[in-house]
Amino acid sequence: MNQYPFLDLEAVNKPFMGELQAAAARVVASGRYVGGQENEEFEAALCELCNVTFAVGVSNGLDALRLIFKAYIELGRLQPGDEVIVPANTYVASVLAITDAGLVPVFVEPDEQTLNLDTTLIEKHLGQRTKAVLTVHLYGRACYDHVLADVVERHGLLLVEDNAQAIDARASEPSPWGTVTTGSLGHAAAFSFYPTKNLGALGDAGAVTTHDRELAATVRALANYGSDRRYHNIYKGYNCRLDPLQAAFLSVKIKYLADETARRRQLAADYNHNIVNPLIVKPLVDSPDLAVWHQYVVRTSHRSDFLRHLADNGVGYDIHYAVPPHLQPCYSHYSHLDLPLTCRIAQEVVSLPVSSCTSRDDARHIAEIINNYSL
Ligand SMILES: *Cc1c(COP(=O)(O)O)cnc(C)c1O
Repeated sequence: MNQYPFLDLEAVNKPFMGELQAAAARVVASGRYVGGQENEEFEAALCELCNVTFAVGVSNGLDALRLIFKAYIELGRLQPGDEVIVPANTYVASVLAITDAGLVPVFVEPDEQTLNLDTTLIEKHLGQRTKAVLTVHLYGRACYDHVLADVVERHGLLLVEDNAQAIDARASEPSPWGTVTTGSLGHAAAFSFYPTKNLGALGDAGAVTTHDRELAATVRALANYGSDRRYHNIYKGYNCRLDPLQAAFLSVKIKYLADETARRRQLAADYNHNIVNPLIVKPLVDSPDLAVWHQYVVRTSHRSDFLRHLADNGVGYDIHYAVPPHLQPCYSHYSHLDLPLTCRIAQEVVSLPVSSCTSRDDARHIAEIINNYSL
C-alpha cells in the first residue's frame, strides 16, 4: 500500500457518507426508480453551475458524447461521413463517440505547453466535409480561446465540448453566449460523473448541457428509446437515462464542488511551487480559473526510471494516457498518422495524486521525493 495513494474513492466519499445514505434512502422510499424529481433537481443544479438553459442527465460520459453527435445527425446538422476535429491527445472515449456516429475524426496535435488542442492548427485541417470541432478540456484545463471561437464562427462549425474532466473550469475569454464556464462555451457539452471525476457519482453517470432547446429535446428523446412522449417513437433511440439514485448522490456532491475545486487548485499551486527538479517538466499554471486540476500531470523523458523512484518512495501515480487513441488496436487504420508530439507526450506523462485524499502536507512530501530524484 502506497503511503501516498493516487486515489482512494472510499476516502473521497467518506465525508458525505451521512448525506449520501439519506439520499439513497429517499430514492428507495420514493417508489420512483427511473427519471423523476431527483433527475430534475440535479439537472437544475447543473444548469445553474454551468450557466446553461438545458441539462439532460444521461447514463455516462461516453453516452453523453454519442447522444450529442447522434442528435445532430437526426436534426440534419451533421451527416454520416462528416469530419470532426478532435485533439489527438485525449482519452479514447472522445474518438469513440465520433466514430460510433459514423463521423470521421481528424486528429490535431496538442500545444506543448497546455497539452490541449493547439487551436492554431485547426484551420489547416479543415476540409469540405469538416463540420464540427470536439474540444476536450483535458486534465481539467479549459481549451477555449478566440482562435477556436473565430474558426468555428467563420466556417459555421458546431463546437462540442468534452467536459468530462473540467466541470467548474472557466475560459479566459467569453463565448458568443457571454458565458465562460466549461459546458456553456460551445453548442453542446458532454459531462462524465464517473466515480474518479471531480464530481463523481457512485457508479456511472453523465449529462449533456446546451443553450439549444431543440438539441436538448432530441438528446432527451434519443436517450429514452427515441420517444418524445410515451409509446411514440420519433427516432430509433437508445436507453441512456441517468439513474435517479446517481442523480440523488450527485445533488449531494455538487454542493461541495467549489470546495473540491479550490482544494485541487491549492494542491496544484503547492506542487508547482515546491517541485524544482530540472528533470521534471511541470504543467502550466497561469490563470487560476482556467484549470480545475482533474489531473496534475508532470512530464519526464526518463519515465520508467522516475516511476520506479515514485514507487520506491510510496507515491501513487497513474498515466493519462499511455497509448493515444490513433494507436489503439481498434483504430489501426489511423496508426500511420504523423502525430509526433502526441506520441511523445504519451511516453512522458505522469499524473500525481491530487484528489481529496491528498493533504497539503502529502503534496509537500511528494514534492520533496520528486526533488530527490536524479538519474
Ligand atoms: C471519463 C471521460 C470520458 C468518458 O466518460 P465515462 O463516464 O467514463 O463514459 C470521455 N472523455 C473524457 C476526456 C474522459 O475523461
